[in-house]
Amino acid sequence: MSGLGKGITAASIGRILVERGYKVVPIKIDPYINIDAGTMNPFQHGEVYVLKDGSEVDLDLGHYERFLDVDLTGEHNITTGKIYREVIEKERKGEYLGKTVQIIPHITDEIKSWIRRVANANGADVCLVEIGGTVGDIESMPFLEAVRQMHIEEGHNNLVLVHVTLVPIDKMGEQKTKPTQHSVKALRELGLQPDAIVGRCLEPLTQESKDKIALFCDVPREAVVSAHDAEDIYEVPLMLEEESFHRYLELKLSLEDRPSGNQWKMIVERLHNLQKEVEIALVGKYTNVKDSYLSIREALKHAGIQVGTRVNIHWVEAEHLETDFRLIEDLKPDGILVPGGFGERGTEGKIMAIKYARENNIPFLGICFGFQMAVVEFSRHVAGLKDAHSMEIDKETPHPVIDLLPEQRDITQLGGTMRLGDHEVYLEKDSMAFRLYGTLSIVERHRHRYEVNPEYVPLLQEKGLRFTGYIGNRMEILELDSHPFYFATQFHPEFKSRPYRPSPPFVGFVTASLASQEGQ
Ligand code: GLN
Repeated sequence: MSGLGKGITAASIGRILVERGYKVVPIKIDPYINIDAGTMNPFQHGEVYVLKDGSEVDLDLGHYERFLDVDLTGEHNITTGKIYREVIEKERKGEYLGKTVQIIPHITDEIKSWIRRVANANGADVCLVEIGGTVGDIESMPFLEAVRQMHIEEGHNNLVLVHVTLVPIDKMGEQKTKPTQHSVKALRELGLQPDAIVGRCLEPLTQESKDKIALFCDVPREAVVSAHDAEDIYEVPLMLEEESFHRYLELKLSLEDRPSGNQWKMIVERLHNLQKEVEIALVGKYTNVKDSYLSIREALKHAGIQVGTRVNIHWVEAEHLETDFRLIEDLKPDGILVPGGFGERGTEGKIMAIKYARENNIPFLGICFGFQMAVVEFSRHVAGLKDAHSMEIDKETPHPVIDLLPEQRDITQLGGTMRLGDHEVYLEKDSMAFRLYGTLSIVERHRHRYEVNPEYVPLLQEKGLRFTGYIGNRMEILELDSHPFYFATQFHPEFKSRPYRPSPPFVGFVTASLASQEGQ
């Protein structure tokens, strides 16, 4: 079922192989018909993750990038929409030579050739394919059928089928294996026999549960693995190692037995030994769906590991601030973070939070929409531009300090095209940006339409707002010299943060928040 942790399980399986020097290439299959996640509501699906090539994908791809320490592209995300598009385009070009085009073999062939192409192009030792959805879903049928065919074509020693199932605990505290038995039965009806079963459970699977699953589902005893709830998802690879799952995979795939690099273990140990704590207010929308800011949470965690502090996130619903600002005042946060966003709801609350951070010397990190609202706030309250706003939110504003770039305004009536993925940004030498990144040119990922209106840049600069990162007339970073840490970026630094390579703006922000706490 969804939300079970298949993505984390798959990423963890990849990690224990990466830890042994194997090149693991992940592919996520989302059986929905959307071409990509770009148009999907984070309220339902969690955040939209952005890759370096500008692909907008499911947040599981973020887990893969972080766990496997790789940079992926849109090729690593297959959806039903993408597969059908390929097949229909081929059909239109006459590539099927007049044949009737069908799910089997044409759709399944396209799925298999996509997987093989990505695995080969990236020199994979192991290609890790996660199939989203649930066994029995109509949407996932063609993908499971493709896997069945691959089993024969690649040979049983070249493919391991791992089934992730829920093991619920009943009122008496007993672990129930029946759902697992039934989902395996459903798999078998499709011609698939799992090679391994990962049981997701609140508690470690008991010996008895494991024995039962092995017996009823016909998998070797050592191939039944417990992935129980952990305090932190980073513990899951270690759980799998503890059960020697890497050995089972190596044997099954005829890979040699290699020692672990123990890099991940080191990260988890540091995570368990954080001596300090900082309190961060995250002022956003959708704060009841915490997955909508997943990469920001992860980036804060990575920065915390580097700085040696636990980062406690306090979710503040921006809209509520508009009527009750004590939500922030009473919290007394060590730092305030305003993340990306779209649309009007909560905008004024975000602006109030930014003003509060600026006036009270509270470390502030603004990302994308947070960057844009920092420009609006400064324009209104420091530069004297009454009712300044973003054209995205207020088309009637007398001071459109955030707008589509002049060259974009004419070419589209639809509100501009989204600027996505990696773009190079130049940094000013004497700046916080340069001190954090330690280089004059960086590459970061983007996802936005609107930007700082170049017509207002001279005035804002004159009033003390510094743009220390830019590309031509596009402003990418802002900061205030008069403030201990007031830093915002048009790009999304969170997408490039990794457990042992944290994102510099996040490190700067967490360090400053810690310092501000200690100064109090
Ligand atoms: N809505 C803003 C824009 O389109 C900001 C986007 C974001 O925060 N990702 O420019």
